[in-house]
Amino acid sequence: MIVIGYYATLEDAQNDANKLVSRGVKAYIVDASGGSLIPGIGPAFELQIDPQDRAKLEALSDNIHRQKIDERKHSCPECGSKDYKSIVPFSELIFGAITALCGGRSGMNTSLWYRCLECSSRFRISP
Ligand SMILES: [Zn+2]
Repeated sequence: MIVIGYYATLEDAQNDANKLVSRGVKAYIVDASGGSLIPGIGPAFELQIDPQDRAKLEALSDNIHRQKIDERKHSCPECGSKDYKSIVPFSELIFGAITALCGGRSGMNTSLWYRCLECSSRFRISP
């Protein structure tokens, strides 16, 4: 299993799980508190997916990426293309997908690196 999110409440975990399931990715909610956490402190639930669904989630994230190309304010500094892809660790990719699916609750506000899909140059954008 791959853990893709942590939630303080079952309701939040369930909401995101439903959104994934409605897009064909099986999601599982696991009570990770073990009964030892003080209520309200720390994540109590984990959202997990099957490792074989990783590609599906990546494709999902890619679709979101595609849909947003036209709305982009930035373009590649080398060739001017707006067709670029973020180069981030898998965990951040997943986090981005979840955030996009769930209407934003993003904790990521650092600048990110991107790779242009036209000319392959790498550049950085501050949101
Ligand atoms: Zn370019």
